[in-house]
Amino acid sequence: METKDNVVLHVADVHKRFGGLHALADIDLQIEEGKTHAIIGPNGAGKSTLLNVIIGRLAPTSGAVVFDGTVLTGKKPHEINQLGVARVFQTPEIFADLSVLQNVMTPAFARRDGAFRINMFRSTDNETEIREEAEAILEDVGLIERRGVNSGALSRGDKRRLELAMCLIQKPRLLLLDEPTAGMSRHDTNTTIELLKKIKARGMTKVIIEHDMHVVFSLADRMSVLAGGRIIAEGLPSEIKGDPRVQEAYLGGAYT
Ligand code: ADP
Ligand code: MG
Repeated sequence: METKDNVVLHVADVHKRFGGLHALADIDLQIEEGKTHAIIGPNGAGKSTLLNVIIGRLAPTSGAVVFDGTVLTGKKPHEINQLGVARVFQTPEIFADLSVLQNVMTPAFARRDGAFRINMFRSTDNETEIREEAEAILEDVGLIERRGVNSGALSRGDKRRLELAMCLIQKPRLLLLDEPTAGMSRHDTNTTIELLKKIKARGMTKVIIEHDMHVVFSLADRMSVLAGGRIIAEGLPSEIKGDPRVQEAYLGGAYT
């Protein structure tokens, strides 16, 4: 399928098989610049597989992923990350022995020094600038008062906020979120929704995989519904909500 205008990510005719299992079939997904696109679907639908194909952790059996005119298929995860694609919230990947502030500064140092050559103690070039930027982001995510705390001591919700901060300092063009509010209290969920709205206001493109319908309908500009490895519906949240196929496949008629 041809890529439409303003599309920053195009998942083009992707299939993924695990042995005899067709985990993804005929996936064509186009994400417009600056939009928040939600992907919903029941357990086992293929959501995480799709995300892993996009970020290069899994190779599609056929098809391609194109980001801003560059074919990602065949590239390594860190190469895809350097092109401006960041993913959060699968498993918190933070440095438990470093402070909250040091954790947020690390990806910026990595960017400056080149991946895998981070040396926090070597050069102090741009350090003040990076620190100020990290502090501004911690303010945004509500962790500024905990900047000196060892990250290992944070609550689960705070660890997720820290991971988001570590992504934001990379200034990705495309942010992929895998169930950003899973395991959070209602209060933390609402705080996270507000934060993601703030990021949206800054124009960052987001793909969000989510189970919680409250989160999806608060944030998404468009939605795709995955079931059995296929996209069974795509449209505005208001359209998806009323689609009987979606209610049957996913919502079980319970959510109206
Ligand atoms: P979701 O994230 O929507 O719950 P997944 O993408 O994790 O779904 O899984 C889709 C299907 O692919 C499931 O049937 C799952 O068991 C299968 N699957 C996922 N990863 C693998 C793997 N590495 N090897 C074999 N089967 C897998
Ligand atoms: Mg999953």
